[in-house]
Amino acid sequence: MVLFYNQNDLMPIYTYENKHDDMHCTYCSGGFDVMQKLSDPVLELCTYCGCEIKKVIKAPHVKTGTTGSPHSTLSEKNIEKNDFTQYRKVGKGQYEKTAGKGPNTLKANH
Ligand SMILES: [Zn+2]
Repeated sequence: MVLFYNQNDLMPIYTYENKHDDMHCTYCSGGFDVMQKLSDPVLELCTYCGCEIKKVIKAPHVKTGTTGSPHSTLSEKNIEKNDFTQYRKVGKGQYEKTAGKGPNTLKANH
């Protein structure tokens, strides 16, 4: 099994936000970050409340003083400290949380 956070892969962090202001839960209302491979499917629904979410495009070269280079491997401790959520792929379109806040599993619609 290939781990979702295989350190040989570049793992961009995607931010998702809720599409609808009046339909959200506390998890998706403020947006959340997910580390995904470029080849992984885009998430479409919040796994807590089931409403639509959208991927937010971030600048590709974000300078952060706390997380270091995007090419370096974040430890799970740092991921939690920096409020990221990390998932690993456990099956087709299924992800299991390894660090951070958020639902324990994610399902992609593809
Ligand atoms: Zn939600």
